[in-house]
Amino acid sequence: MTTAVQKAPRITQDDAARIASDLYGLNVSATPLPSERDQNFLLCCAPSHLQSPGSRGVNQFVLKIANSAEAFEFLELQNQLIRFLTARKIDLEFPRIVRTRTGEDIAAVNGSDGRKHFVRLLTWLDGICFAKAEPHDRKLLSSLGRGLAQMDAALTEFDHPAAHRSFYWDLRNAAMAQELIGLLPETRRPLVERFFTEWEKIDWSSLRFGVIHNDANDYNVLVSESDQRVIAILDYGDMVHTAIVCELAVALAYAMLDELDPIGAAAHVVAAYHETYPLTEPEIDALYTLAVTRLCCSVCFAARQTRDAPDNEYLDISNTPAWALLERLSTVQLDWPTQVFRYACGLPVVRKQTSRPRRTRAELLDSRREHLGPSLSISYDAPLHIVSGSRQYVYDSDGRRYLDCVNNVAHVGHSHPYVVRAATEQMAILNTNTRYLHEYLIEYSERLTALLPEPLRVVYLVNSGSEANELALRLARTHTGRNEVIVVDGAYHGNTSAMIDLSPYKFDGQGGSGRPAWVHKVSMPDVYRGAHRGPDAGRLYAAQVTEALAQTSGVAAFFCESALGCGGQIILPSGYLCEAFAAVRAAGGVCVADEVQTGFGRAGTHFWMFETQGVVPDIVTLGKPIGNGHPLGAVITTPEIADSFANGMEYFNTFGGNPVSCAAGLAVLDVIRDEELQKNALEVGEYLKQGLRELQALHQLIGDVRGQGLFLGIEFVRDRETLEPADSEAAYVVERMKERGILLSTDGPFHNVIKIKPPLVFSRADADFLLSGLDSVLKQDFQ
Ligand code: PMP
Repeated sequence: MTTAVQKAPRITQDDAARIASDLYGLNVSATPLPSERDQNFLLCCAPSHLQSPGSRGVNQFVLKIANSAEAFEFLELQNQLIRFLTARKIDLEFPRIVRTRTGEDIAAVNGSDGRKHFVRLLTWLDGICFAKAEPHDRKLLSSLGRGLAQMDAALTEFDHPAAHRSFYWDLRNAAMAQELIGLLPETRRPLVERFFTEWEKIDWSSLRFGVIHNDANDYNVLVSESDQRVIAILDYGDMVHTAIVCELAVALAYAMLDELDPIGAAAHVVAAYHETYPLTEPEIDALYTLAVTRLCCSVCFAARQTRDAPDNEYLDISNTPAWALLERLSTVQLDWPTQVFRYACGLPVVRKQTSRPRRTRAELLDSRREHLGPSLSISYDAPLHIVSGSRQYVYDSDGRRYLDCVNNVAHVGHSHPYVVRAATEQMAILNTNTRYLHEYLIEYSERLTALLPEPLRVVYLVNSGSEANELALRLARTHTGRNEVIVVDGAYHGNTSAMIDLSPYKFDGQGGSGRPAWVHKVSMPDVYRGAHRGPDAGRLYAAQVTEALAQTSGVAAFFCESALGCGGQIILPSGYLCEAFAAVRAAGGVCVADEVQTGFGRAGTHFWMFETQGVVPDIVTLGKPIGNGHPLGAVITTPEIADSFANGMEYFNTFGGNPVSCAAGLAVLDVIRDEELQKNALEVGEYLKQGLRELQALHQLIGDVRGQGLFLGIEFVRDRETLEPADSEAAYVVERMKERGILLSTDGPFHNVIKIKPPLVFSRADADFLLSGLDSVLKQDFQ
């Protein structure tokens, strides 16, 4: 049997130029382009011939000479598809089909062997192929996912009988490649067999079908040289009607080639695809197997072609990297990529839920009342039973998805698989205390301090924000030999005895016993509701710190959250910390920045919120996001303060700094960096703030919109003059938003500030969803 590759045309360059001239009236030089079954030539018009009748101002074309086995209808299908997609509003370019002098889309020529070949001419698109574009960063990979998704979404409205064909590159027919395993080197067969076995398990009936391009390989994807964006997906010769998800799978096979982290690279493509044209759960679950199957098909067909046509160099293009990738992926646990892809799409990473008998919500609530201390509150009138989380979503026991706009602990996303893997792997190896040397403890301390300005380079690892602040207080007291502390009104620094004493939010609140004598309060530097609202606010509020200092009999520390969380999402006015710190230091105290809520890129412009104030604290305390949900906290200070603290009494913390915590902490830092989450906080935060300001213009209830990065607040008032707090309205809106699948909560001394501090993977689409939900609720109930 002769294969299609053996029937490939054999036209010379000169013949190609002659065909261009005879059929299209073009005076060109022809250069061969790689192709598996067809022959393609790049045609370049000489400058003097730009005006030739066929060129219409274009000076480069692709002459496509089809395999003699190719049916006319199939070429017609390709032309129809190009025209169909060109007419759609998608961010991809498509070549123009150039007609012959006699007005035909498709002409025919005879090869030297007498075989008839159909010929088409397309305009050339400028750009570089994906394989040669650098770097394959998140932006480029996302644009690939988006482009493919837009194309596939558009193609759901396209069909043609010629696309319903049995084609060996259709992943449904991977058995055709599987039969060729015997041609592979014996040592490599197991690599491929393993994946074909997975392919055999695919339930094709669970997948959506449609016409797809089916060959978004790294040489068919065209990238703009100027802005690192995918601009075209070329070569429609592999089109077929099959499972739509094969489109993405094929692209992933090539997007993973030569990548240091192939699964991470693929995940960027998947996430962008899903955001544009959502995948179904069965599609996501089949995706990885299909992607590797494509690689397996590629090496199997290449083996056959090497046997049949040893001189076709096209076959080698993706063969070596494909083998390298297969080798690499053979070391990856089979279910890991699917977990990563599920996460990329915001689905619970692990499908299996608890196997214990399920209790109703009411039963859980009853038992909770009986066994948990009643001082613990629960959110919402009808409490939620949340059973899993992924990215910025949580899922309840009925499988309903909620957009989580308040969880600043699941910082890089709920159940991020990299963090989960890092912690669980380490858990299986060793978890012990810090009285031994451990690589992770040292590496983590180095990584954390590298993110902080000098001289903050000594780390204490603890287990919570409260513990971090507790230790900060001890450090300050030991270092200064003093006892008293200045705090900001409305502040919350933790749940231990000393921290309750230090937190006006608690000691002035219900059940609190008031301010202890060693604590001094200054007003919240609130430019919306406070005494100072003008450009001098920072300086005027800081002057209160100086006044408070005068009342102490020796200050140990000034504690300040770098943006006020419980105080109502208040951004410090410019100059505040600078002046306050100077005054405290002049009085011999140390300055503690509580970054428990605000650290790790949430500020967008800076990694730490205190940096937005242009100051360097003496002690920084970290918590919440630091372990993405794993209990972890840290105190970072100067060598000088650390030396004072080393007064003979050991500081030992059984769990603080254990290898599992450090593994989780390291993974969080990796993800923030690799997924550019700080940048996302800046971009999406600005976008959301702008959207909220637009809502403020429409709804009287919104008195103020404020924030920085993805740390935002909406203050509700009944009257924009008197600023009467609209607390019940805020609570009502939070309840209504929950019904719409959006989780928010209130804070601030009057409980009238809706806080927004979501996981940093929050997207523009999420922002739009939140904004439209809020707009509808406010329109329905408050207008
Ligand atoms: N500081 C701030 C600013 C906080 O918001 C919190 C927790 N809400 C803490 C400290 C205490 O952290 P944890 O609950 O981890 O002890």
